[in-house]
Order: sequence, then C-alpha cells, then structure tokens
Amino acid sequence: MSTSPLDQSISLTELLDVEGFREVCKSFSELYGIGIKVFDIEANKIADVRASTGDHCGYLFTVHPTQVACTNLVNKIRTIALTADSEPLAIDCFSGLRYKILPLVYEGSLLGRFIFGPYAPVELKAPPAQLEQYRPQLDLDTLAGYLKEIPRATEKTADKVIEHVTQILQVIIHGSYRIQMTSKVHIASIQGAFDELEVNSRKLKHANDKLQELDRLKSNFIATVSHELRTPLTSVIGYSEMLLEGMAGELTPEQQEYVTTILEKGENLLSLIGQVLDLSRIESGNVLIQKQDIDPRMVVNTALSDVLPQANKRRIEIVIEVDDAVTNIVVDADKLRRIISNLLANAVKFSSPNSQVKVCLDVDDVRPTDRARFDIFEPERNRNLRLRVIDQGVGIPEEKLERVFDAFYQVDNSSTREFGGTGLGLSIVRNFVQAHEGRVEVTSKANEGSTFTVYLPYDVRGSDNGTSAEVFSQQP
Ligand code: ADP
Repeated sequence: MSTSPLDQSISLTELLDVEGFREVCKSFSELYGIGIKVFDIEANKIADVRASTGDHCGYLFTVHPTQVACTNLVNKIRTIALTADSEPLAIDCFSGLRYKILPLVYEGSLLGRFIFGPYAPVELKAPPAQLEQYRPQLDLDTLAGYLKEIPRATEKTADKVIEHVTQILQVIIHGSYRIQMTSKVHIASIQGAFDELEVNSRKLKHANDKLQELDRLKSNFIATVSHELRTPLTSVIGYSEMLLEGMAGELTPEQQEYVTTILEKGENLLSLIGQVLDLSRIESGNVLIQKQDIDPRMVVNTALSDVLPQANKRRIEIVIEVDDAVTNIVVDADKLRRIISNLLANAVKFSSPNSQVKVCLDVDDVRPTDRARFDIFEPERNRNLRLRVIDQGVGIPEEKLERVFDAFYQVDNSSTREFGGTGLGLSIVRNFVQAHEGRVEVTSKANEGSTFTVYLPYDVRGSDNGTSAEVFSQQP
C-alpha cells in the first residue's frame, strides 16, 4: 500500500518557487546591504545573495591560514545544530564580522535556516588583534581598507532588519505551503479513491477468475453427464421401437400404450440432452460450422419431419410457402435444420389445436434507399434468405419479448406451467444464427400469435467452392 501524500514530508525546494524566492532575497540584500543565505534541512543551498563584503572575505580566502579558518566557519554556520524554537544565534567570524542564524520554521517543523551576514558590528573599527598571528601572509592594512566598505549595524538595527526580512520570507513560505497542502489534500483524496478502486478491481478480477473456472467446470460436467446419459437412452429408445415392431412377440394394446409412452418420453429426454449439449458446446466455443451449398427448401422439409408427429397429434396444419426468388445458400445444413425445427417445435407447442403454422421462405433484398439497413461497405450482405415461422398461438407479452432468447428463460416459469421445455431452444437458435452472421427477431401479440424471423446473409465469403468449416465462438 502506498503512503499517503499527506504523510510525506516536503522539502523547501519542492515547496518554493526557488527562482522567485531568490529574487526576493536579492532585493532585501540590496536594500539593507546584508547578505542572505537560505539552506534547507539537509544543508542544501536554496538562496545565496552576497552583499558588499566580497573584497573583505575574498581577501581572507586567498591567504592560506585564514582560508582554513574561513572554511571552518562556513561549515559551522551551515551545520550548527538548530531546533524549531532556537533563538537567533550570533556567530562571530575570526575577522570580527558577525552572522545571525535563524531557524526556518513552518507550523512547528524545522524546514531549514536563514543566515544573515556578514555585517560589521558598530564596535568593530579595525581588524581584531588576533589576526596579528596571520602576518606576514595577511596584510592587516589591506584588510582594514576592505573592512570600511562593509555595512555597519548596531545589534538593535541588525535584529530589526532580520526580523523584518524573516517575517516577509515566512509569509512567502506560508503561502507556498498552503498551496502545496491544498494540492496534497487533493492528491491524497484522489489517491484514496484510486487505492480503493484498485483493491475492488483486484477483488473483482479474483471473483471473475473463480467464476470462469466454475463455469468451465460446469460446462465440462454438463458435457460429460449429457454424453453419458445419451448412450443408455439410445438403447431405451431402440428397444422400445423393437418392442413396438413386435420383434419380441405380439404386444397387448395396454403394453403397446405403455411402450409408446416410454418411447415418447425417451425421445423428449434425448432432445433435451441434445439441447443441453449444444448449449455447453456453444458456451465453450466448440461449435463447428460446416458450410455447404444447399437448397433451403430441402432443409425446411427435413425440419418439418422432426415436428410432424407432434403437429399431427394436435391437428395443427403446417403450411410451407417458398418464394420463387429463393436460391441455394451456403450454410451449415444441420444447424439450419435445428434452427427451423426449434422454431417449428415452439410454434406447434404454443399453438392451440386445429390452428395453423406457416413457414415462409423468401429473399430479403435491402434496397440502397433503406439507409438504416443498407450495408455500403459489404454490399453482398444486403441479400438475405428470410425465414419466417408464423403461428396463431398464445403469443408473448410485449415486455417479455426481449428475454425469450436468453438461456433457460421461459415466459411461464411456474411449476404448474402448461408447456414442457427447457428454455434453451431459442438461445441455441440465436447462437446458430449468429454463427452465420445472421440475425433473428420476434414480433408477437398475446393470444394472437408470434412470428419468428431469421435473416441469413447470402454471403459466401471464405468458401470459393461452396463448402467450408469454421469454429464459432459465442459472443459475450
Ligand atoms: P422452451 O420452448 O424449451 O421453453 P425456448 O428457448 O425455445 O424454450 O423458448 C423460450 C420461451 O419463449 C418459451 O418458454 C416460451 O415462453 C416463449 N416462446 C418461444 N416460442 C414461442 C411461441 N412460438 N409462442 C409463444 N411463446 C413462445
């Protein structure tokens, strides 16, 4: 976890506009004729404005023994221990000049130090006697000449000037500190929100990984269980058919009725298992689309044979209308059969006895004038095979239309519902249609009937010879 910006200490260089601060120091120095130096807490120089002491100090620095003494003094001034509440310290140079050192404090914290000087105390009229020891290298007369150029100040005046200057510099620091703190508070609040987001996003990712793993396990489980159920079920259906055909001897009418029920229920169960398997394949992205050039009329007829027994039983008439413009299309014939038989099975299931179900096949050519639908980038996509399955059944309430394509969704999901089913058929239809880059729509009126419309593009991309195979992954 990162530390809050509010907890991080701030240096003077970060705090101040250093150039501007130096300019202010310079104008004070020129005004009072006293040098000003400012160091931060780590003894880094922030400002260094020298006044008219240059010749005096420069001369002392050129003479070997005093040069050493100068260096020692400068180090002492820079590093002498200070606390936030230290009083101004007066440090006298061996040459008689004086420095004043003050702590630079903000809100009780020591940020650095101000150094004023050197200036000549009023009582210093000539170089002090102790400098005699540096003769003959040091010429005291020359030094006395330089000393005259140095501003002279009584302690009272020096203290007043220092107080004035420090007050102004403190005001500048205070202003900068406030700006800095405001932006720090701002950054801290953003960082707080960011840290929280990061934690939440990590938690979400973890949960998502777990869900994905569970989903994978679930799909594997469904695929294995469905597969294992199919084998014995095929035997149940096969033996029931053999019994009905009299291969094990003549059945009494009652036995025939029972075996027919076994066969019917077995077939229902087999189709249910088939749907579950389809969905688990779709979810795991293992749907293989094998396209071939086929006559859609043939596929409609095969699908019709899947639902005819149910339709006959309920005396529902199925009418097929095919427009002359319908030509061959390159699609996966098996998937198209399943699309049509799922829609037809629903139409039969949700229709009342003695009603009619219509299957219409025609070509939907989108005209360039239909701007909303016309695809100018892939014009070949404007020609679609349109398949409509129209029934006069119970219909679907308007507000439920959106959801009927969701897996496991059923308009009537009560335990006493009239119609059987899993809620998987339309989800599979939609996925197979999307695998052909087509779309499926529904319009319906409660108690009047529903129309399911599938559009499949007559687009043969990726198959020059009319056949191709590709794996379709489900869109999220
Ligand atoms: P199932 O038919 O197994 O319940 P589907 O996914 O095929 O599952 O359909 C989902 C739901 O959509 C159905 O339960 C039903 O409520 C509604 N539905 C589908 N087709 C029709 C239809 N032709 N008429 C009325 N309702 C329909």
